[in-house]
Amino acid sequence: MKASRFHLATLKETPVDAEIISHQLMLRAGMIRRLASGIYSWMPIGLMILRKVEKIVREEMNKAGALEVLMPAVQPAELWQESGRWDQFGPELLRLKDRHQRDYCIGPTHEEVIADIFRREVKSYKQLPINFYQIQTKFRDEIRPRFGVMRSREFIMKDAYSFHLNQECLQQTYDLMYQAYSNIFDRFGLAYRSVTADSGTIGGSGSHEFHVLADSGEDAIAFSDLSQYAANVEMAEAIPHESRRAQASKPIETIDTPGLYTIEDLAASASFDVKKCLKTLIADAADGGLVALVLRGDHELNAIKAARLEGVASPLKLADREKIKSILGNDIGSIGPVGLDLKTWVDRSAALVGDFVCGANSDDQHYINANWGRDCDEPAVVDIRNVEEGDPSPDGNGKLKILRGIEVGHIFQLGQKYSESMQATVLDENGKANFTLMGCYGIGITRVVAAAIEQNNDERGIFWPDALAPFRLVICPINYHKSETVKKQAEQLYALCIERGIEVLLDDRPLRPGVMFSDMDLIGVPHRIVLSERGIDAKQFEYKGRRDDSVQDIALTELPEFLEKLISPACAPN
Ligand code: ATP
Ligand code: MG
Repeated sequence: MKASRFHLATLKETPVDAEIISHQLMLRAGMIRRLASGIYSWMPIGLMILRKVEKIVREEMNKAGALEVLMPAVQPAELWQESGRWDQFGPELLRLKDRHQRDYCIGPTHEEVIADIFRREVKSYKQLPINFYQIQTKFRDEIRPRFGVMRSREFIMKDAYSFHLNQECLQQTYDLMYQAYSNIFDRFGLAYRSVTADSGTIGGSGSHEFHVLADSGEDAIAFSDLSQYAANVEMAEAIPHESRRAQASKPIETIDTPGLYTIEDLAASASFDVKKCLKTLIADAADGGLVALVLRGDHELNAIKAARLEGVASPLKLADREKIKSILGNDIGSIGPVGLDLKTWVDRSAALVGDFVCGANSDDQHYINANWGRDCDEPAVVDIRNVEEGDPSPDGNGKLKILRGIEVGHIFQLGQKYSESMQATVLDENGKANFTLMGCYGIGITRVVAAAIEQNNDERGIFWPDALAPFRLVICPINYHKSETVKKQAEQLYALCIERGIEVLLDDRPLRPGVMFSDMDLIGVPHRIVLSERGIDAKQFEYKGRRDDSVQDIALTELPEFLEKLISPACAPN
């Protein structure tokens, strides 16, 4: 490609409404343009990258035996009514009516459509397992579309759905997909982690997420420093550091604590160790009443874990202050488990504290030296806190570290959730109809592009891993329009690259070198060759890798060898 014929629409200024670096750089590099909130056009250079992501995904899915299909974006309401999700899905589902006033939605996901295809097409266990996938545009009317294509309303997903007669077969395909995903992310050249995950509202049992690691990631992931253990913090089991509860050593006392409403203020007021202070959070109960959740002062509540407890409203909602006051008679700053007339769940670590400080259930008063079993009932112990860096790894091996990640892929075992509601059956060896078991496997294709940038950028712009780069190499001739020698050499090199199958950009625009270089650094071309009259006279060209600190002069005679290296397996398109 010659830059003069390409639409390189780079921007110098950082767009004001782009909050995260990938969104800023995608706009500045001219990869995407916003059409409406959460809806973007992919411009030529952006699309080149997107197609590379798709190609790798498609190749690995095919290799794993999945069969590509393409399902409609517009889906009839009847299918969603059958699965029950027409009512459950809420406002993320974009609904519309056709001219006959029939209801439709724009697919946020395709379980219903694929289950319908399956029940019409597949009759016998002999056809199983079968795994269909597509790379297709989804629409989710996200409450807060943000960060460009990272969380957009319209986005491209690779979604696959597998069908099985029994759990063993589902597990095999699930494992195969896990491996395919690992191959895909390896080939992208991105640092990533797979973690066990919460299977969320889609339901089902086994579930893993794939995260591209980046400090700006929305998710926190916990992993062991010694073993393979890795889980989303939402899911990771919190293990106390102590194995036994500390003994009671002092009598309980009431102290006045006017104006001290937070654990931090309370601890600071009398130099209490915050680990000795218990906080009592009040949440809505499933029956409309209240329930108490007790944690150590330095720990953070995990809403997902708490919402799974018996009697707790799901999703978790902390009760509002007025409701608490009207039921308990005192304010939120001084609630504690001693003498509290509410169902109380106590976190494992909080249950091991002795001589603790807690609210006295009377405004502006706290207890000190309170003890479980002595001053109040033995605690109902549960795991309701987020894990922290340094916690023991739940597999008993090592300590947890926490990293931030961007969820780019998610695989789940759905079991019979959709096959039951949608009557998707197959006949087994005995001719008996069984609800098929399903697995589903997603990759956010458009999000991968943004995540790759979040992980790979510097003050000058993007640096693409070779596998995703729009161009592998850029040739920057100095004075292309003034020097015949330079022009000739540049054209020759350009032709040679094309002949070798190297994706090359020849920057033949009449620009000063600095402007040319900063454009190429911004769009992230991994390799750059500069040709100048002076260099050619000295029989040299200048090379710089996008992440190198300095340039190298290389003899022109070594050019063929240099190009060979550029297309070597490590860099070559697969
Ligand atoms: P999230 O928790 O980020 O909303 P999700 O659990 O809703 O994701 P899935 O339904 O599992 O996502 O979809 C599969 C993949 O599609 C996700 O792993 C993610 O990479 C991508 N994805 C989901 N929602 C969006 C979105 N609004 N914009 C871009 N990509 C998305
Ligand atoms: Mg979502």
